[in-house]
Amino acid sequence: MLELLDRRRFSDGELIFQKGETGDCAYLIESGQVEISDPQLGCVLARIGEGELIGEIALIDQHPRTATARAVQDTVLIEVKRERVEQLLLDTDPIIRHLLNVVLRRFRNISTSSAGGAGSAGNALLPYAPPMADTDTLQVTAAQKLTLLQDMNHALEASQFVLYYQPIHYLGDQSLAGFEALIRWNHPTLGLVPPLAFLGLAEETGLIKRIGLWVLEQACRDWPQLRGLIHREKPFISVNVSARQLADGLFATDAIDIQRKYQMPAAELKLELTESTLIKSPVQAQEQLAQLTELGNSIALDDYGTGFSTLENLQNYRFHTIKLDQRFIREMLNSSLSFQIVMSSVDLICTLHMDVVAEGIESPELARILTALGCQFGQGYLFGKPKPLSALLQAPDAWDHAKRA
Ligand code: C2E
Ligand code: CA
Ligand code: CA
Repeated sequence: MLELLDRRRFSDGELIFQKGETGDCAYLIESGQVEISDPQLGCVLARIGEGELIGEIALIDQHPRTATARAVQDTVLIEVKRERVEQLLLDTDPIIRHLLNVVLRRFRNISTSSAGGAGSAGNALLPYAPPMADTDTLQVTAAQKLTLLQDMNHALEASQFVLYYQPIHYLGDQSLAGFEALIRWNHPTLGLVPPLAFLGLAEETGLIKRIGLWVLEQACRDWPQLRGLIHREKPFISVNVSARQLADGLFATDAIDIQRKYQMPAAELKLELTESTLIKSPVQAQEQLAQLTELGNSIALDDYGTGFSTLENLQNYRFHTIKLDQRFIREMLNSSLSFQIVMSSVDLICTLHMDVVAEGIESPELARILTALGCQFGQGYLFGKPKPLSALLQAPDAWDHAKRA
């Protein structure tokens, strides 16, 4: 690894860097000796040798050099460039990346709360700066996050994730139309952990890519049994896809492989994305969604109404379905503004020949009003809470309100 990095040779007395300059690299002393001094104070702060690191603050935020460094004898320094560190942070294992990020964040806090340093030797000479209150908080949350992250990594291998499926109904005759797959974590000590408690960190660390593929694979595996519960044409299973999953451009290929492996009828798989996903990686998202729609998958825009550039997105992406966010649905009986928003959204979506799903329907009254407004599909506790496959199979007709009636 170190062999791959550039080396620079400095002769006796040669300047390495000067106090006040902006730095973009740190140096590891491979051989020789370096003197750290402060020209303003007119004194030598330290002499350091082989194996020591100097100037590492420059790797963070291009901090100006806080002291001058000069070779004392012929010296060979290994250059650790800022871009190199950034690249490593992107490429490395999620746990290491998280650790490095925590260290970097803590280091930033400490370096701004103290006078700064020229490097490890420089720092050692600075008065000890006690961690600030927010650094303490960071340590606690960082430690918790790390445990969560380790547990999460293990959860995939230990098959602790489970999929729950929530029914989506035709509002007209209340028959079952499809399901949405929603992940839960069956944690050995914490019990059933809801997705919002761990997906944020999974997203932050990139672990969501593996989790997301697991979700897709499990949903495809369960689909033949779920499909057996639906007695209408065009049954579908919806799977959520997050921003990070689309970011590296590999998702579509993996998703296509999984569908082939499970002989998933492509037209029966719907991928749900939010607007923030599209904003975070617009180019990759567009390319990959094009591949997947080419295969026959449909794309649903989730949480409609909570994003920033809805109208533009409606024009730029080929959405098959729009899901109205439950916030508007819940409010529409109390707020005329929410009612108007839902009404005009349903109108617009129908005019654009897209399907519309209202989320968060909890009462028959809401279902009635939404049906009258022309909304075709509904999802919510009125029809059923998310349940594991086994529970759905135990009472196969409980899910089909049309059949029950
Ligand atoms: P979402 O995609 O908007 O999913 C709908 C959420 O609303 C689910 O929460 C569902 O249980 C809840 N819900 C449905 N009907 C009702 C209702 O009538 N009333 C109320 N109060 N809530 C209702 P859940 O399962 O906790 O999931 C939360 C979010 O986590 C999801 O929101 C989705 O953004 C994310 N998520 C869940 N599973 C996955 C997954 O496999 N991958 C990704 N990337 N995200 C997922
Ligand atoms: Ca969703
Ligand atoms: Ca939603």
